[in-house]
Amino acid sequence: MYDVIALGEVLIDFTPAGKSENREVQFEQNPGGAPANVLSALAKLGKKTAFIGKVGSDQFGHFLNSVLQNNNVNTKGVVFSKETNTTLAFVHLDDQGDRSFSFYRNPGADMMLNEREIDLKMIDHSRIFHFGSISMTQEPSASATLKAVSFAKENGLLISYDPNLRLSLWEDLNHAKSIIEVGLKFADVLKISEEELEFITGTIDLNMGSEYIYERFHTKLILVTLGSDGCFYRLGFNVGKCSGYEVEAIDTTGAGDAFLAGILYQIIEKDYLLSDLSLDDVNQMVSFANAVGALATMKKGAIPAMPSIEEIHELYNKTNCVKKGISLNE
Ligand code: ATP
Repeated sequence: MYDVIALGEVLIDFTPAGKSENREVQFEQNPGGAPANVLSALAKLGKKTAFIGKVGSDQFGHFLNSVLQNNNVNTKGVVFSKETNTTLAFVHLDDQGDRSFSFYRNPGADMMLNEREIDLKMIDHSRIFHFGSISMTQEPSASATLKAVSFAKENGLLISYDPNLRLSLWEDLNHAKSIIEVGLKFADVLKISEEELEFITGTIDLNMGSEYIYERFHTKLILVTLGSDGCFYRLGFNVGKCSGYEVEAIDTTGAGDAFLAGILYQIIEKDYLLSDLSLDDVNQMVSFANAVGALATMKKGAIPAMPSIEEIHELYNKTNCVKKGISLNE
């Protein structure tokens, strides 16, 4: 039995790594892909995880497969394509340290996963199904994702969703919005950034935006991540906020994935049913997840930066929730 199974992209992130003798930027090969990051973080915390996705049968694909295996993520669901190369992304940092991505995916193996290649038995043997929207940007992986998440929902798995909007991967932003909304129909746990919330709801007001999502999609737990400010959350008609921890952040890659892993870890560990959650439970879960996210910013990269349970507890004991549930009806 797997605690968490995730379907989606695993790819190479080429990240800037200094300058060459000729003063040109040099890039370093790093494993990337949000679903794979979430699983690696959970596996480091001792949870049983499995990945479903497609890579090229090239050096990059074999590298990614072995990174997952070395991080104790089951790779039975990884498909190797002979026709299509592994997807590559280059990460660019501007003067403020903000990241942008250029993807080399015309096509990339991740988007060529088709529904016949998915082993539904693996999903049936799992407790939580996690997915995002990058696998829904193109066919055939869009249909494959929807088939897998529909199967997971019908079979009673808890569904975790991170839209993880990458504007450059969509040809048409109206299409992006409608597909992201299709994903929302399945989600029990939603992790979303402020920018994504605004993209979907048209408002920067966290209360209003999350209320719109709750009323329209009945999402049980909505977590809006706020970078160093922590996280705003909604449980039904109640909302709250946990501030972030003060840490020396050097690279925020994968912080959102680490945060989400912290939430899923708590759900599994405490055997929580979302329908029975209290606001105190959510405060405590979010505070824990903030610690996981904060620690992930203190090292370079995503997978190598995922913290151990000891590191999390050390930071988490400096508990920091500033507001408890504020009912919108009050
Ligand atoms: P992505 O990884 O896709 O960019 P995201 O935008 O959701 O995801 P953030 O909001 O940047 O990610 O971070 C997720 C969580 O990690 C935050 O909610 C917070 O708990 C923690 N975090 C991120 N950056 C910092 C920071 N500089 N200091 C402390 N905690 C941080």
